[in-house]
Amino acid sequence: MELRKTFQIEAAHRLPNVVPGHKCGRLHGHSFVIEIAIEGPLDPRAGWVMDFADVKALFQPLYVELDHNYLNDIPGLENPTSEVLAVWVWGRLKPSLPGLAEVSVAETCTSRCVYRGA
Ligand SMILES: [Zn+2]
Repeated sequence: MELRKTFQIEAAHRLPNVVPGHKCGRLHGHSFVIEIAIEGPLDPRAGWVMDFADVKALFQPLYVELDHNYLNDIPGLENPTSEVLAVWVWGRLKPSLPGLAEVSVAETCTSRCVYRGA
């Protein structure tokens, strides 16, 4: 069974490695939507895979670090593409969330990256 939980952060960034004149090289912001997928068996007594509140609690330190911040200043996010952000979120969550199966980062309504580890 799979659980999915969505978080939204507002953050600024710029992409330092794009060609000169590329719009993503300029300072701008996104309402990033980060979706976490967790795989696991249904606990027959609890009736759930895990408590959504526990997922939220595990994500909270990342939320504090990312929300309303300049992503480029965060270690590991010097080139904060959605792809790099997805890998960063995975690396931060996986040790405490072994059932983590997927991290999705959408930087706009129409542009989204999905990372499933490795
Ligand atoms: Zn951007």
